[in-house]
Amino acid sequence: MPKLITSLNQYEVWFVTGSQNLYGEETLRQVAHQSQEIVAALDAASDVPVKVVWKPVLKDSESIRRLALEANAADKVIGIVAWMHTFSPAKMWITGLDLLRKPLLHLHTQANVALPWGDIDFDFMNLNQAAHGDREFGYIQSRLGISRKTVVGHASNPAVTAQIGTWQRAAAGWAATHELKIARFGDNMRYVAVTEGDKTEAELRFGVQVNTWGVNELAEAVHAASDANIDSLVGEYEELYDVVPELRRGGDRHNSLRYGAAIELGLRSFLEEGGFGAFTTSFEDLGALRQLPGLAVQRLMAEGYGFGAEGDWKTAVLVRTANVMGAGLPGGASLMEDYTYHLTPGEEKILGAHMLEVSPSLTTEKPSLEIHPLGIGGREDPVRLVFTADAGAAVVVAMSDMRDRFRLVANVVDNVPLDEPMPNLPVGRAVWVPRPNLATSAAAWLTAGAAHHTVMTTAVDIDVFRDFAEIAGTELLVIDENTTLSEFMREVRWNAAYYRLAQGL
Ligand code: MN
Repeated sequence: MPKLITSLNQYEVWFVTGSQNLYGEETLRQVAHQSQEIVAALDAASDVPVKVVWKPVLKDSESIRRLALEANAADKVIGIVAWMHTFSPAKMWITGLDLLRKPLLHLHTQANVALPWGDIDFDFMNLNQAAHGDREFGYIQSRLGISRKTVVGHASNPAVTAQIGTWQRAAAGWAATHELKIARFGDNMRYVAVTEGDKTEAELRFGVQVNTWGVNELAEAVHAASDANIDSLVGEYEELYDVVPELRRGGDRHNSLRYGAAIELGLRSFLEEGGFGAFTTSFEDLGALRQLPGLAVQRLMAEGYGFGAEGDWKTAVLVRTANVMGAGLPGGASLMEDYTYHLTPGEEKILGAHMLEVSPSLTTEKPSLEIHPLGIGGREDPVRLVFTADAGAAVVVAMSDMRDRFRLVANVVDNVPLDEPMPNLPVGRAVWVPRPNLATSAAAWLTAGAAHHTVMTTAVDIDVFRDFAEIAGTELLVIDENTTLSEFMREVRWNAAYYRLAQGL
């Protein structure tokens, strides 16, 4: 199997334009020409990351049905953008929309920006009537219960391209979960509730395959790593990180670093051979592994892999998805865990970290590569990267299995600089102020039953997760600057009813 791809370059979004034969050839030629211009404008926009491909104007039921089937069958097509330039009688769309399995964006636009006040005549009206053609299309989508994103405005408007780009990233995340195979090494941490979940349902809802391998299969791959490969990887570590003297070549504990490199080599070969895009480990089930994987996990997450600790495959799904959705953007995505608080009134913040496994993609500083004891797990001291996440906007998202559905809970947060250095904390970490404040955020989080493990992303914003949840038909509760606890509690109650009703009987 090839290396894991974390990029949007292999994907396409198809742009389809609706019309009908009533208008005659000359008008339909103009429709085609103008829709090609819109595609060119979208494709040229820097905030539209996925290639937009123009498709011939659709004028009847059969071509619409055929287009939907072709889009469904093409792996590289992650979504459809539809625009009714003229009036496309919407019964033509019923069968095609009913068959379509790809995410849909309804772009409500037109070719011109300004009304040509002095020149306008009825030929112009005949050609440029998306204002009502798209209303007909909106009706049939709602009548059929089609989930979609609706974007309004001219293709030259940055607010329009930004929304399309956001939706494309969400659609890419949706494509990525359908390509995702997760290797679990060991089971969930014993007795823990929130990391459990219905793996069969997850494959139906998200397309993700979650299966378990004995950790000693991984240990065999680790112990098969060659000295030459270990040498060259250690050289890479010495270039990229501030390696503490005891771990360097000639240092007292250099062999521990070499073992960390062997873990990376073995893990990587196991994941590549199996075509896995995410994995979990369990400190309670390390088999013949001599260290809990730390450094290797951190580096693989930074490359695009999903990861969850303690067998938490749901967070592994989120980390992989966030890595794909943020491809090409500054920042990154990581497993994160709410650990401990700064509760000084007026300065409340959260310190997040994990035992070892926080991705260095959250920082632009040069991480320090260190070794410290780890009380948990009962193995040799593990090597790990130590750093602080950059200050700036971030989102944390958790997934809980609520028995009849998966619930996503997201908090918009601001990573902040440390109030004071933390020289004795030997792990990668982030410190953030949750919006709207710690008291409301944490109360809402607990009310929602959201997990202590999250993905933290500093690459994409909350709107990408809103679009992802809409595409997935999955509940998303957002905690942000507008959240009040009383309204949030009402939303949780309404959702309990809505998501049961929405599944039908
Ligand atoms: Mn944990």
